[in-house]
Amino acid sequence: MKQRLPLLVFLAVLVLAPPLLPEFYVTLLNYIGLYSIVALGLVLLTGVGGLTSFGQAAFVGLGAYATGYLSTAHELSPWLGLLAGLGITAAVALVLGFLTLRLSGHYLPLGTIAWGLSLYFLFGNLEFLGGHTGLTGIPVLELAGFRLDTGREFYYLIWVVLLGAVLATQNLLDSREGRAIRALKGGGLMAESMGVDTARTKTIIFLVAALFACVSGWLYAHLQRFVNPTPFGLHIGIEYLFMAVVGGAAHVWGALVGAGVLTILKQWLQDILPQIFGQSGNFEVIFFGIMLILVLQRARDGLWPWLVRLVPVKVDRQRTVAEAEPLPCRQMPAAGTVLLEVKDARKQFGGLVANDNMSLTVKAGEVMALIGPNGAGKSTMFNCISGVDPLTSGEIRFLGERTDALVSREMARRGMGRTFQHVRLLPTMSVLENVAIGAHLRGAKGVLSSSLHLERAEEARLLAEAKRQLERVGLGEHLFEEAGSLPLGQQRILEIARALCVDPYLLLLDEPAAGLRYLEKQALAELLRKLRAQGMGILLVEHDMDFVMGLADRVVVMEFGEKISEGLPEEVQKDPVVLEAYLGGVE
Ligand code: ADP
Ligand code: MG
Repeated sequence: MKQRLPLLVFLAVLVLAPPLLPEFYVTLLNYIGLYSIVALGLVLLTGVGGLTSFGQAAFVGLGAYATGYLSTAHELSPWLGLLAGLGITAAVALVLGFLTLRLSGHYLPLGTIAWGLSLYFLFGNLEFLGGHTGLTGIPVLELAGFRLDTGREFYYLIWVVLLGAVLATQNLLDSREGRAIRALKGGGLMAESMGVDTARTKTIIFLVAALFACVSGWLYAHLQRFVNPTPFGLHIGIEYLFMAVVGGAAHVWGALVGAGVLTILKQWLQDILPQIFGQSGNFEVIFFGIMLILVLQRARDGLWPWLVRLVPVKVDRQRTVAEAEPLPCRQMPAAGTVLLEVKDARKQFGGLVANDNMSLTVKAGEVMALIGPNGAGKSTMFNCISGVDPLTSGEIRFLGERTDALVSREMARRGMGRTFQHVRLLPTMSVLENVAIGAHLRGAKGVLSSSLHLERAEEARLLAEAKRQLERVGLGEHLFEEAGSLPLGQQRILEIARALCVDPYLLLLDEPAAGLRYLEKQALAELLRKLRAQGMGILLVEHDMDFVMGLADRVVVMEFGEKISEGLPEEVQKDPVVLEAYLGGVE
């Protein structure tokens, strides 16, 4: 209850505002609401997902023009206009998303500028949309018998839509799909290895952000009752992005803060700056530019985190994981079944041959160690096996089927779990949520049920599984800590729990014991023995020879990308080739 107090006060102020405030402020609040809906989409797309778009204003335009045109030229109901707008926006967003989301780095924002400009000029040049003059006579919106023909009445519709969108976005982010969305910022490689289809996830947030913008445009058209191209230009697209950044790019409520601050500031600057400079002009643009640079330099997370600190009530983080029915598990194959078979594998990076003539097998119920000096090609072998990098030539079979052409997401689906030599986790997310990403493929509920929180039963099972795996690896005490706050050794262990959440037949561990203390290493060895006893196959890269020799059933030694020895630990240790090459003749 205490945690909700600021929210309740905020809602009470919102409800009471229209009858108490002069018309001017109600109008201002209406615009803040409309802008917030667009900025909210950008929080999801840019702040959380890391995909920058300068073109959102164009989607607002699609929503406004769709209803504007249909309700004037064809006298259709505004509600049909809304449906048509959403349909058109979805279609356009899917096409634009398909074309631009695959662009990397700065090309994506540049791409959004290109289509933002194109749509803007399209609005102004289409005869039937009224050219640059636009469309007038857009009808008043009627809702359950009420005519929303003043700003004061419209206000409630705008804010109900906005708060609904905030709630849905919050729900979405706090779900299996939401973890996949938040994992995008980590670069995608880890997410794909856990079974997340990152291209699909990017498309989803692009679509949601576009649809939010479309709804804002629809509301705008029926509030203003005329539309022209001006509010859908690139400069407004930049302002939307600015709102999301200023408010706090990764926080849903930041959208409201950003829209509020910028709208009021713009109003104020437009009044005051021309007086100062003694002539009219859009001076606020300069001011905004400077402010954007300051925000990016000084307060990358925007104003929201800073505001939260001002409010004395602490945000209550979930502190327990509810009991839930365990997820179904795979049946492990009989010990000795060949899980993985690599034959004559070769991997070239340009002129560099990182793997050549590599052959190895891993069976169910055994620990197979891959050792060799730094740069021998062990991690490269891991990446080829797990579908991160394609082989240059050769064959890989997993459970009897050719898999060397498959992507990592598919390998996860088939039962391969892995960790990374250079830890890949989401440092600001909790330990529990990081591990739950591993269980991505063991849930099925999508965006819609997540937004409405209709997937709570499934979500509880996923989190319970993450907790179970964390307890199994000995991190049960750290469930709600930020993953980035763990020491590096424990972050590696976290990755093992995440890989176990995949429910793998085969576990690939790339230097799991690095950074662990003696007792932690022993605990890890104990865990791996248990997993082996349960029938799991483990492929292990590790530099700690005591650890490897005490644990491995078989060892493959690599040097310069090739296998130089293979056998039982005691055989390999005595092999003169190994002693010479690997131990550098130390002994
Ligand atoms: P290890 O894990 O045994 O230490 P790696 O597999 O990381 O070795 O590296 C093997 C060789 O391949 C090294 O020379 C490394 O520089 C090179 N290499 C690895 N990944 C790439 C890449 N993506 N592009 C180019 N060269 C790479
Ligand atoms: Mg390596």
